[in-house]
Amino acid sequence: KVRTRIAPSPTGFLHLGTARTALYSWAYARHHGGEFVLRIEDTDVARSTQDSVDQIIAAMNWLGLSYDEGPIYQMQRLDRYQAVIEQMIASGRAYRCYATPEDLEAMREAQRARGEKTLYDRRWRPEAGKVLPAPPEGVKPVIRFANPIEGDVTWDDLVKGPITINNREIDDLIIARTDGVPTYNFAVVVDDWDMRISHVFRGDEHVNNTPWQINIFNALGAPLPQFGHLPIILGDDGLKLSKRRGAVSVMDYATNGYLPEGMLNYLARLGWSHGDDELFSAGQIVSWFDGSHLSKSPAQWDPAKLDWVNSHYVKQIDEARLAELVVAQFSTRGIEVTPAQVQPKVGLFKDRCATTAALADWLAMYFAPVEPSVEELATHVTDAVRPALRALADRLGALSDWTKAGIQQALKETLAATGLKMPQLAVPVRVVVCGRAQTPSLDAVLEHFDQKKVVERLQTV
Ligand code: GLU
Repeated sequence: KVRTRIAPSPTGFLHLGTARTALYSWAYARHHGGEFVLRIEDTDVARSTQDSVDQIIAAMNWLGLSYDEGPIYQMQRLDRYQAVIEQMIASGRAYRCYATPEDLEAMREAQRARGEKTLYDRRWRPEAGKVLPAPPEGVKPVIRFANPIEGDVTWDDLVKGPITINNREIDDLIIARTDGVPTYNFAVVVDDWDMRISHVFRGDEHVNNTPWQINIFNALGAPLPQFGHLPIILGDDGLKLSKRRGAVSVMDYATNGYLPEGMLNYLARLGWSHGDDELFSAGQIVSWFDGSHLSKSPAQWDPAKLDWVNSHYVKQIDEARLAELVVAQFSTRGIEVTPAQVQPKVGLFKDRCATTAALADWLAMYFAPVEPSVEELATHVTDAVRPALRALADRLGALSDWTKAGIQQALKETLAATGLKMPQLAVPVRVVVCGRAQTPSLDAVLEHFDQKKVVERLQTV
């Protein structure tokens, strides 16, 4: 049975790389009718927080990445790791190492002086014919895994293809610290074993950990999962995506007006393809994501493409939902409006908007004072046009039917009376009433205003 997992460390928000790994793991499980597990790798006690767990779960929910089991917390499984460690010590697959940090530094110093790779020299590893010193007083041991000394570790990576590492390249890994807390590489194996994980997708910063993990799986007599290591995501500057350069938290994108559909679609394409398709629903991702067509090369974060993808969903989703999201955007700006006020207006602007934030930018003219720039006023609202604007204000004020047709009629009469051409009148009206020189069709834009508000704004010129 296909079982996948996402195993974030709760030391911050759900970042984009982890979200993509979660999406692939989820889609792979769903594609195969399998299960998807959320595991919280919280053994770094000093940096792990419940708040971060909550944020990670909120982001997964937002994206619609539903999990079948979890959250499972590693810190609630310490007894289990301890039991496995005891067994491994008893069977000679793990041992206590009393080397102090100073001992190890001296060892590495000597190795460097000889031009050797710095690897633990197995000084505390019980071996045939070797006499170990008595454990020093007062030194708490770490537990090390007795890694095979000879031979190769090989796996066929779902993304990178076959990978082989010689055991001489890796040393006896610390699997539990002096306080008994297991290290990542050990806990992850016990967990993936206990949770019957069949496929592990994760970032390729973990490729170097995989040989150790495979050796530990083998030492435990546990079946090996398949591994797929996803290449990193680069920022649009070609450097590793980081907090310092732009948003890396999934929920920042929610806050900034992206839709979960857009985000999911964009993340899916960031390292995976299905022919030339660019737009995918969650259902299509699930039906097409079979672990093939995963890219071996780094993905590049492309904000313009994300906007393009998201704008597709802004156009597509139900307008009632769009209105709710715009109301939320307004609320963060301290503008209180209701969905009923917003909904009739979204259709006119949504085709121009990549995000609900952009939509709120457009709709702000209806709910908050507009502030045309001094330059725009100076360029467009000239003395020559002022009388026409006042005349238009009078005509609009006198309208008894505040409809597109009525507004159109008032505009035409003003043009006829003043001899102006439509753009000569319409652009100043836009600047004064909408706060910007370009908008959709003026009669349609004005129709959504309160008649009084339009007249008032025109009278201020
Ligand atoms: N906690 C690890 C991480 O966030 C999980 C790696 C794994 O999936 O094995 O990178």
